[in-house]
Amino acid sequence: APSILAADCTIMGEQINKVKEGGAKYLHIDVMDGVFVPSISYGMCVVQSLRQIKDIVFDVHLMITEPIRYIEEFAQAGADIITVHLEACEDVEATLIKIREKGCKVGLSIKPNTSVEEIVPYLDDIDMVLVMSVEPGLGGQKFIEGTVDRIKELKELIGERNILIEVDGGINKDNISKLK
Ligand code: ZN
Repeated sequence: APSILAADCTIMGEQINKVKEGGAKYLHIDVMDGVFVPSISYGMCVVQSLRQIKDIVFDVHLMITEPIRYIEEFAQAGADIITVHLEACEDVEATLIKIREKGCKVGLSIKPNTSVEEIVPYLDDIDMVLVMSVEPGLGGQKFIEGTVDRIKELKELIGERNILIEVDGGINKDNISKLK
């Protein structure tokens, strides 16, 4: 899932079409609020404009405090998957239910220092777990090696459930094979 954080904002549409032509099925959209993470990126109006581009899954990663406040707006803007951070929600369960109610696939993310076991109570309510392999909030960081073991542990906890694992941060063509 190529991230639009890496795109040139003046030609975002062109660049998305390029990754689509290159075979990307998902487009990763990082939303940052300057509170949950230090940086600020973009919000629902950017997602809504980009939604003119069809046939690619909009994988919206909300790195924002109390994301429940914005689920409806991101769903209306055209998100297909909405991922929230376990650490950012006062009521994780209610937030996941709201994503489902608005017709989106449900993702739950954990930062590098959050134990994967904390995901367990929500495994029956989600479609995807997003494991952060860098501290969220800044592009261009180095992949944290311990992530590989965390993913193995998570995969065991997921068992037979139909849940995707997404890994986010510092992934490139040299280290991607470690995650297969
Ligand atoms: Zn992300």
